[in-house]
Amino acid sequence: MKSAVLKNGKITIINKEIPTLEKTEGAIIKVNACGLCGSDIVKINHSTPSNENKISLGHEIVGTIVDINVDITGNGAKTPFKKGDIVAMGHHYPCFKCKYCTHGNYSMCETFKNSNIHPGGFSEYIYADVNHLKNTVFKKPENISEEEFSFLEPLSCCIRAIKRSGLEFNNKELNKTYNALVLGLGSIGILMSEALKAFGAKTSGFDINPERQAFIKNFGIDFDKNIKYDLIFMTSGANKAIDSALNLIDKGGKIIVFSSIPDDIKGYNNNEIYYKELSIIGSYSPSPDDLKMSYEFIKTGLVNVKNISTTYKLDNLEKAINDTKLGKILKGYIEL
Ligand SMILES: [Zn+2]
Ligand SMILES: [Zn+2]
Repeated sequence: MKSAVLKNGKITIINKEIPTLEKTEGAIIKVNACGLCGSDIVKINHSTPSNENKISLGHEIVGTIVDINVDITGNGAKTPFKKGDIVAMGHHYPCFKCKYCTHGNYSMCETFKNSNIHPGGFSEYIYADVNHLKNTVFKKPENISEEEFSFLEPLSCCIRAIKRSGLEFNNKELNKTYNALVLGLGSIGILMSEALKAFGAKTSGFDINPERQAFIKNFGIDFDKNIKYDLIFMTSGANKAIDSALNLIDKGGKIIVFSSIPDDIKGYNNNEIYYKELSIIGSYSPSPDDLKMSYEFIKTGLVNVKNISTTYKLDNLEKAINDTKLGKILKGYIEL
């Protein structure tokens, strides 16, 4: 099978053995397509000759189960899966037992960090284990396209960030008193804006790129530089975004850090945090509960995930990466 790996820092399509189940429990999924995530590009940028063979690329998978040897009922999975099911999934699962899990920091759990699909979403087939099937795999609803369903995992990351900001989905009366701003309007910024609207928050978005600022109007999102914001979601990986956030945050506000930036030293000012009683909160990857909420949002059409992706073939993965870096596209959707 074809599989995209890094060789000397370059995307290379190699030929690999198709994974099989043999005596192991789990499923083999034929990847139909996989979204290109900003984190894939960060991994490529940070790769070194010594670690590049350990890097797994691609996780926003939609695919077809071609082999399965476990029958799961209950434990989070609503439907037991069978051969032929089209599914989307998250790639990590927590242990639900350790200190981090007990505190709700599922993505900090050791099991979470060590779990993955094999070899990666930019491969024609992957192996998902039994815990994936129990906790992170969802069957595609009839009414949505595979492309829309590929947003399951990235949308769940946004939902996690919104929950970590303190908003509760069922508390819309309170949520509508919050002015929320999304800084950075790439594909994640769009998903974050859509999810914030679904939570009922007053939602605005800003991007230094005027085309992106214009595009978000299609989602009913504007920007008013004259108001202060209670919640700011940092989906931009630019150093300057921190300055913008500190200028735009209201007293008592929360800044949700959702992206790494190139400058390791750049940070938030102690005195701003103190005198304005700010909260700076990180949000990294989704928990199984966030995936469930994302599934419901997509299934019911509560969020619009149409017309965001640009489709490429696996052989053009390198081009998709370059087009993303250049800001020519919002989101690469790689067909296998
Ligand atoms: Zn992702
Ligand atoms: Zn854990």
